[in-house]
Order: sequence, then C-alpha cells, then structure tokens
Amino acid sequence: MFADIILPLNLPQILTYGVPHEMQDLLRPGMRVEVALGKNKQYAGIVERLHNERPEAYMVKPIKGIIDEDPVVNEKQLQFWRWIQQYYMAAPGEVMQAALPAHLKLMGETRLEWVGENDVVYEWSDAAYLATESLILKKTLTISELRNIVGVRHFAAVLNELLENEVIAINETLEAIYKPRKEKVVRLAAEYKEQPALIALFDQLSRAPKQLELLMAYTELSIKLKGIVRQEDLLARANASAAQVKALADKGVFIIEEINVDRLIYPSVENTKEIVFTTAQQTAYDELNVGLKEKNVALLHGVTGSGKTLLYIHKIKECIAAGKQAILLLPEIGLTTQLVSRLHAYFGDILGVYHSHFSNNERVEIWEKVRKGAYKVVVGPRSALWLPYNDIGIIIADEEHDGSYKQKDPAPRFHARDAAIYLASLFDAKVILGSATPSVESLHNVQHSKYAYVALKERYLGVKMPEIEVINAKSLEKVRLRGIKMVTPELQAAILEALQHRKQVILFQNRRGYTPMQLCTVCGWVPQCKNCAVSLTYHKSTDKLHCHYCGLKTNVTKTCHSCGSNSLVSKSFGTEKIEEEVQTIFPDARVARMDVDSMRGKHSMKELLDQLEKRKIDILVGTQMVVKGLDFPSVGLVGVLSADSLLSYPDFRVNERAFQLMEQVSGRAGRVDGAGKVLIQAYNIQHPVLQWVKNHDVHAFYKHEIKFREFFSYPPFSRLLKITFRHQDEPKAVAAATQLAEALQAFAGIAVQGPGPAIVPRVRNQFIYEIWIKSPKDNKVLSELKHFLKTQKQSILANKGNANVQIIFDVDPM
Ligand code: ADP
Ligand code: ZN
Ligand code: ZN
Repeated sequence: MFADIILPLNLPQILTYGVPHEMQDLLRPGMRVEVALGKNKQYAGIVERLHNERPEAYMVKPIKGIIDEDPVVNEKQLQFWRWIQQYYMAAPGEVMQAALPAHLKLMGETRLEWVGENDVVYEWSDAAYLATESLILKKTLTISELRNIVGVRHFAAVLNELLENEVIAINETLEAIYKPRKEKVVRLAAEYKEQPALIALFDQLSRAPKQLELLMAYTELSIKLKGIVRQEDLLARANASAAQVKALADKGVFIIEEINVDRLIYPSVENTKEIVFTTAQQTAYDELNVGLKEKNVALLHGVTGSGKTLLYIHKIKECIAAGKQAILLLPEIGLTTQLVSRLHAYFGDILGVYHSHFSNNERVEIWEKVRKGAYKVVVGPRSALWLPYNDIGIIIADEEHDGSYKQKDPAPRFHARDAAIYLASLFDAKVILGSATPSVESLHNVQHSKYAYVALKERYLGVKMPEIEVINAKSLEKVRLRGIKMVTPELQAAILEALQHRKQVILFQNRRGYTPMQLCTVCGWVPQCKNCAVSLTYHKSTDKLHCHYCGLKTNVTKTCHSCGSNSLVSKSFGTEKIEEEVQTIFPDARVARMDVDSMRGKHSMKELLDQLEKRKIDILVGTQMVVKGLDFPSVGLVGVLSADSLLSYPDFRVNERAFQLMEQVSGRAGRVDGAGKVLIQAYNIQHPVLQWVKNHDVHAFYKHEIKFREFFSYPPFSRLLKITFRHQDEPKAVAAATQLAEALQAFAGIAVQGPGPAIVPRVRNQFIYEIWIKSPKDNKVLSELKHFLKTQKQSILANKGNANVQIIFDVDPM
C-alpha cells in the first residue's frame, strides 16, 4: 500500500511513500504522518490518498510513524484543498500551510517540552506513563524520540493524552498547546441581587470607603454591561487593587470566576427578541427562499442599512435548526465589535468568531470546536473557510464585491467568495452573496440565471440615502496660496457646518491616491493606454508613462487630449498629507487617521473605533478601511477627496471599484436620521460613474460596464491570469519574463500581454515584471494552460541563470 503525502513545503508535486505493514489497518487519509525527505529532513505531512500504484520515477521511502489516531483533516477538506490547489495553481504544501493551524504542523524534529508539574499525580495510560517519565527526566523530547519510546501504535494516543492534560508544549512556537485564555470576571453574590439586601450592604460598607467605591463601580458597570464585569475593568473604574476585590469576595459579596475569553463578547445593545421583519424585509426573505429552492446561489442586493444582516441571521437560524453548520464570511476588516455583539446576542455560545489577528491558541480553540460541532456558526474572514466543518448548510459572503476576499500573498491566492461556492457545493449547501454594490461578475451571473436575485431597496425605517454633491476641484485654486492642496473651500465649509452641529466627519482618500498619475486640472482627463483602455502611470525612473498590462511606454504628455489645455499635473496624495492639511485648517478639531500604516497593532483598530464611538474624534481621515463596517450614528458628512484618482487607477475594474467605494463610503453618512451629506471632489465632474453614484444606480452602472467588459473581453467574458517575476537584478526578471512570454506564443487561443513593469515596479529591492493572460472561459483550455505554465516555470527555473527568479501565478487576479 502507498500513501500520497502533502508536505508543508512548496513542492510542485505530492510525494508517494510506502505504508509499512503494521500501519496498514491504522492509516486513513487526513492523518498526519512522519516522513523523511532527502537525507535527514523529517516532516509531518498529511495523507492525501491511499492507493496501490507504485510510483515509477523514484524509490519509495516508508512512512516512519503515524501521528494521529483520527484524521485531523476530513475528506471534504482534502477535496477543498485539492480544488484550491488546482484552480489557483498553488502547491499542495502551500495550501496545507495556509489551512492548518500551527499546532497541527508538527515535524519530526519538533521538540516537546514538559510543562507539567512533577509532583502531581496524573492518571496516565501505561504508554503515556513511560513517556512522562522520560519527559520529566529529560525535560524535552523530539517527536521521533517519543515515538521510539512508546512505539508506533501508541504514539498518537500518547501525544493526545499529553496535549490534553496540558503537560507538554511545542517548543517551536514556544507557545503552550491549546491553553484557552482565561480572564477573571466578578459577579455579585445572589443574596445581594434584591434591592433591600443591596441597600443594606451599601450601609454596611459605608465605613470601608474603598470597598464601597468598588461596589458602586460594580453596579454601574453591570448595568452598562448587562452583568458581565471583567475584574480588570472594575479595578480601573474604582482605582482599586485585586486584593481589595478579593477582600469583598472573602466577605461573600463578590464571586470571582475565571472564564474563557471567547465568552467575553460584549453584550449587545440590541434586544434580539423584539425584532420583526419590515414588510420589505419579509418580502425579500420570501424571495430569497424561493430563489434558493431553484438555485444554489442567491445574490442579495440590499442598500446599506436595509437589514441584510437580519436576513442572514434568520437564514443561519434555519440552517442550525436543520442540524447544520453555517459560515458568515466578511471582508478582512468587516468584523467589528458591533457586528459580533449583535450576532452573539442571537447565537450565544454556538457562535465562533474568527479574528484576522488571531493567535495560535485562538485558532486551535476554534478549530477544535468546529470539528466537534460545538460551533454551529462561524463568522470570519476568508481563512474561516479552512476550518474542519462536518456539515455545512449555508455560506453567506457579506460584501461579496470586496476585493479583500482575494488572498494576494502568499499562495494560495484564492478568492474566498468563489472558493465558498465550491466548498458549499461539496456539502450541497446554499450560498448567499450580499452587497449594496454587487460585483459585475455576480450581476452577470444573475443576468445569465446562474444566481437567484433578491433586492432590498429601502433602508430600515425608510431612512433616506444621503444627499450627494460633486464639487469641482478647480476651486482648489482659490486656496492654493494658503498652502492647501486637497480640501476645497466647499468641503471646508461643509466640515465646519458638520462640526458646528456636533457631527462627525469622515474624509476618504483611496490608497490608490498614492499611485502617481498625470491629470488635467481643467477637465480631469488622464492619459490612457491605447491597447488596454486603462490609465497610464507615471514612472519616475524612466520619466515616462507606463501601461502595466501591456508594457507600453509613452512620453509624458504636455497637453490635454480632451480639452487641449496645458495644465497637466502629476498627482499623488496620501492620507497623512490630508490629515496634516485638515488639522491646519481646523486646529481645534480632533483629527485621526485610519489606514494600514496607522493601524498596525492588533488593538489600534479597536481603540480607534472606541474613540469614534465615544465621539472623541471629530474628523477621521482614512483609506478603504473607513468604508467597511463603520456604523456610527453621528457621522454627518463624508468627503471623498479625489474621485479622479479613484477613477483613473490603471485597472480594468477601475469603474467598478470607484463606484463601489464611493457608494459604500456614502453609506457611512446619516445612517440613523438620514441627515447625511456626501461631498465628492473631482476635476472630471462629468465622469459617468459620478452620476451613477449620485443616483445610487447600480443597474445603470452595470449596463454600461458590462458592454465595456465584453468589448475588451475582460472578465466576466474571459479569465485573467497574472504571472509575476521578481528578481533583484532587473535584467534577470526581464529575461525570465520574456522567455515565458515567448513560450506562450505557442499556446493557441489566448491573448498574452507584457511583460511590463508592475504598477509598483520595485519592492524591497526586487524588480517586478508582469505578464497578463486573457483566456477564454473554457475549462479545458484553462487546465491545459495551467499545466503548460507549470511546466514552463519548471524549465525556466531549471536554467541556471534563472535560479533565483521568483515566478508567481495569480489566477483571477484582483
Ligand atoms: P445592512 O446589513 O443591510 O447594512 P443592517 O442589518 O445592519 O443593514 O440594519 C441596519 C440597522 O437597522 C441595524 O442597526 C439594525 O439593527 C436595524 N434594523 C434593520 N431591520 C430591523 C428591524 N426589522 N427591526 C429593528 N431594527 C432593524
Ligand atoms: Zn496597455
Ligand atoms: Zn483637459
């Protein structure tokens, strides 16, 4: 018997090993095994398949040991991995690395460290007893040593036993294996719950001022937090010490408990029981159910604030009632405390929350609970798809249009929305894609009857959509002498007015505002590539305009091709510059910035959101980050600083992105009272996208956009594949790219563009070149193409001169 084993390495193939006799009745796919690779490297791999086909090309080595008693990865997961690997051209090991939490990635040399107490009496099995004796004696053992001590057959059971008793830690990560983080919470003893007893207690404590203060702080907090008071918060509130709390516990007033941190989700402000659908929501819900009877995927197109989340919750409830698991996918930073507490109010302990900044321990905890079925609902970003679900009933992807669903680096570069649809199909599960601004791809699938379509057109309680005004950025000339380059007088006036009405202001500048481009300040015209219909970017190194799709280079233009003026400028402004400018104009306002640079730490995002919520910030300047999930009632004004930079990004999806972003960012204004205002600054005020945004007209946008896509055969009419070449010597990157581009000439039926420098042509001293391929949407062509590309990559890399060139495939790049 043979086993195909996935190793945690970037190997193009899965390797086959021999299964020794004594393991044959134990081994199953999805189990981890220890194998050797090369002379003396040991790895823990995952059994992908068992079979009897002896490989011809090489001598098989035997599997050294089995690590698990039961598979850690189930069949459906393996199938899902296989698909991701094939579709997105990732190595099997890369998928495994992404999918498995750290604690499951053991290696032969991995050290197990004794962290148990030596004098405690444990009830060990015989084999585990043997192991603990050596562990206590030596303090550490490698996985292989442990196997030698207890024998192949017992190894997995013993390892589990030790892990479950929390007496060993894995040295590699220096992190104790699965220790749920605990936190102390304080409760009032039951006898003081009644008013008279509590009053008596206050009297009784009047001579102990500190204790009285603690009690008062406790009552305040417990009203606010509905009963769950963290000791830490209490101490901060009362300015007290842990000893003082303990004194009250000793008196029988407080009860101190340790609970798992994952239970400590902030209580919801929403009273879940009383919520009933509005007529519009009920209709949408009924339509959704009808749609999902016929189709596996439904697109729920609901304006911001229409109650999509409520519909999701009801669908998830149904799914759970049917005994299945549900996944709610969110874009990278869509997971806010607000949403989590709302969901928690509905689902309580069966809700697992996957953070984007989870620690290994948190990952383990959620992995185990999903596997055992304790979590029926998981809410999280794209990585939530890797969890070991047993039976999925529904997957919902909120904000389905969002680009952060696509993993950019490292491999596997998968799109979570599309992968979710595949994953759902493995379970015969249903999929809901929700958005206020659906992607062109999804609308196209609706048009072609692949997806059901449900619209929810009004905001809850009929709250109006904000009023949108487009400001001609030419008015910046009036303030230039004051050194202001980004905030027009009109926007300044609107900010002032909002501040006077004690409203908060969000100013939005896209990350893309950093890409240098040439722009006519009279009419907003931006030079375009004649081949690709995308904007050209200015490259300082060559002092030329480049097309990053086809590599075209042209001279910098002096006159505008649209209006003939000579006022072309090169622009690129970041959020930091704007923050500065705004602070200069409004010296008394409290200004904060939200972008990837200012949000590095795990907590800074949460802190900033807290400050916003408590209205300690008047003006927030930010990138895409401000677009998602911010739901603050007192935002009265949203300003889009440079629509031109949104509308000229060199990407065929530029109009789609610009439309979605402006629509979404507008949705942040006036969410409760409808008294919101949106100001969009642009030179090119005639741009059709601005009109569609003004009218919130997705369908007009789509009708126009889909023609453009068809004319240039961009997705959804084709599939795109991007191949990136990186090397620190520019000629090497170019040579490898050219070699592949030339080889691709032999492949019929596709369009190859490039090589050309990437938009950001050099990163960390690596030169970056790209080839773009447009392929027909034909599975046969695509799989042949992928195969061809892999083979070519191997042969390019086999060439000595190319050895260090990185060649990266990106299927359906975003
Ligand atoms: P979306 O997800 O479409 O942006 P939400 O589901 O967040 O919209 O709803 C917006 C707001 O309106 C939320 O605060 C929600 O609690 C409230 N809401 C929506 N529908 C109802 C309802 N039927 N009853 C009470 N509140 C509702
Ligand atoms: Zn081009
Ligand atoms: Zn012009």
